[in-house]
Amino acid sequence: MRKIIIIGNWKLNGNYLFLKNYLKQIQKVLNNQTLYSCQISIAFPYVYLNTAAKYLSNTPITITAQNVDIHLEGSYTGEISVNMLKDIGVKYIIIGHSERRQFHLEDNILIAHKFYLVKSHGLIPILCIGDNKKEKDLNQTIDVCIKQINFVIKQYGIDILYKSIIAYEPIWAIGSGVPADANFVQYIHTSIRQYIMSINNKVAKSIILQYGGSVNSSNIINFNNKNNIDGFLIGQASLNVKDFISIIQKIEQNIS
Ligand code: PEP
Repeated sequence: MRKIIIIGNWKLNGNYLFLKNYLKQIQKVLNNQTLYSCQISIAFPYVYLNTAAKYLSNTPITITAQNVDIHLEGSYTGEISVNMLKDIGVKYIIIGHSERRQFHLEDNILIAHKFYLVKSHGLIPILCIGDNKKEKDLNQTIDVCIKQINFVIKQYGIDILYKSIIAYEPIWAIGSGVPADANFVQYIHTSIRQYIMSINNKVAKSIILQYGGSVNSSNIINFNNKNNIDGFLIGQASLNVKDFISIIQKIEQNIS
């Protein structure tokens, strides 16, 4: 059975005390537990990743990074390399989040480069793509998403997408409290998979399509019964430990 991949994204939130309390509560519920329906990972801020990895070592939860540099070493003050993240046990790396595109001016070429670097070092990139409100209103969602994916395919070839994650994250839904309609997400995901299938069937079948944008424990089940939604990227609700645990439990039990 396919496992739903859920990644929490803390963004620039939390502090050491908050982290410790959060991890303690997760441990209480998930220590020595096996998850049958989902895989869980959390993208803590860089400085907390190592501590979190140690705390979570007896749980099924892995760690994710929110970003990575394109350089492997050298005079790049303030940056973190893929090998450093690999060293501490990071499994997934979020690439091209809309907040990095907007506030750090990351473009599609840089994002494709990061994607390639992560994949070629044996970690799993999560390529964030998505439309803004204007593009959605103009019915351009699919074109926008495919254009973003094509930057990776054209530069590095279709095989680079094999067993990677693409997260459809409409900018108009992120942090808004109002998620996209589950049927709409299913339609976008199906179109993305069909597009990749038109190039390479094996890659299309292997790719994991996540949805992100105001998912929480009250609405997650609306999405979970859609066959082209393979997982979730969760911001705000991942900061609330009770909500996040409830999301995990709902997916495990598939109840609403
Ligand atoms: C995100 O920023 O990736 C995200 C999905 O945030 P939220 O869940 O808060 O909308």
